[in-house]
Amino acid sequence: MNTADFEKLPPALRQGASQDEWDTAVWQLRHSFRNAEQLSRVLHLSDDEQCALRTAGQRLAIRITPHFLSLIDPDAPDDPLRLQVIPRSAELTRSPEELTDPCGEEKDMVAPGLVHRYPDRVLLLCTDRCASYCRYCTRSRLVSGTGSRRLHTDFDAALAYLRDHRDVRDVLLSGGDPLLLPDARLDAILTSLRAIPHLELLRIGTRVPIMLPQRITPQLCAMLRRHSPLFISVHCNHPRELCADAERALGLLVDHGLPLGSQSVLLRGVNDKLSTQLSLSHRLLQCRVKPYYLYQCDLAPGTRHFRTDIRDGLRLIAGMRGHTSGYGVPLYVVDAPGGGGKIPLNPDTIVQQDEQGFRLVNYRGRHYHYPVAPRS
Ligand SMILES: *Cc1c(COP(=O)(O)O)cnc(C)c1O
Repeated sequence: MNTADFEKLPPALRQGASQDEWDTAVWQLRHSFRNAEQLSRVLHLSDDEQCALRTAGQRLAIRITPHFLSLIDPDAPDDPLRLQVIPRSAELTRSPEELTDPCGEEKDMVAPGLVHRYPDRVLLLCTDRCASYCRYCTRSRLVSGTGSRRLHTDFDAALAYLRDHRDVRDVLLSGGDPLLLPDARLDAILTSLRAIPHLELLRIGTRVPIMLPQRITPQLCAMLRRHSPLFISVHCNHPRELCADAERALGLLVDHGLPLGSQSVLLRGVNDKLSTQLSLSHRLLQCRVKPYYLYQCDLAPGTRHFRTDIRDGLRLIAGMRGHTSGYGVPLYVVDAPGGGGKIPLNPDTIVQQDEQGFRLVNYRGRHYHYPVAPRS
């Protein structure tokens, strides 16, 4: 963080840190905010938030880094960053449509912590810890150690499975957040995966560049680079999350040859306006991150207040496609409730289809005809 910004930090956030201390992941994690008492020193908590803070942590722990808190406007009760990390009492209500395991991952678990759903790629859950906990977490059953299940990844069993399955060419490391593991531990996991010749691509899904950019050090990046090709999917939901520190962290990753894509969750009151989605995409591109997926919010317990209607999501995509750089338009997907994987949701562009050809509509609503191919 630059010195001018550091000096503007309120003392309650700074907690006596020197600028050098603030800029380390160790200090940020040790001084994370975990309860109503600590949070009330930096935010004016509403009655609803205070009530939620008393019990929400029993389902999904409360944890927010001083870094992320410093981006929240303490005087704006509806701050889009605040809504993602401070529980509200709506979180305590489980709606009938909600599922403990919203994407049906448990039934595709082929070894503890290893999910094999698609023909050629797998998901490996490496840890149940995150730098900060998002209140809409899709894996709240496993994450943070307070939910109904515990994650006990069996790395030996997972590696044995992968050695035996030559059809798998892509491993996505997630959790929790794999970048919370110490460098040496993550290096060891990546090294064992790289020892399996048919694994072409490794990927890491992380929110660390946003929640804890101090963790992205030249040493970490140099280690990750040795496991190339390694793609990183950054979970980012709002343009204000992409502050100067996050931009530095993302830039360091790209400069080490790690291609970056984003994953965002469409959240009511956070990023469900077209102007927000456009600025998010433009900020991501400035940070050299390709917007990859926009997720319809999963049916995780206690998340109804975050969910939007799919028709609203389709309108957002229609408002982006053609109106801004193609690179800036993510693929809108719903992870099928109960299992089945990601299903793309696209505004219709084929208006009519017959023996002559296709009637198509462009981004301005004008119609065009494209003929069927001649039979050969
Ligand atoms: C999302 C996901 C993947 C990776 O999917 P891509 O569409 O290739 O990014 C792999 N396995 C599981 C179980 C997933 O949920």
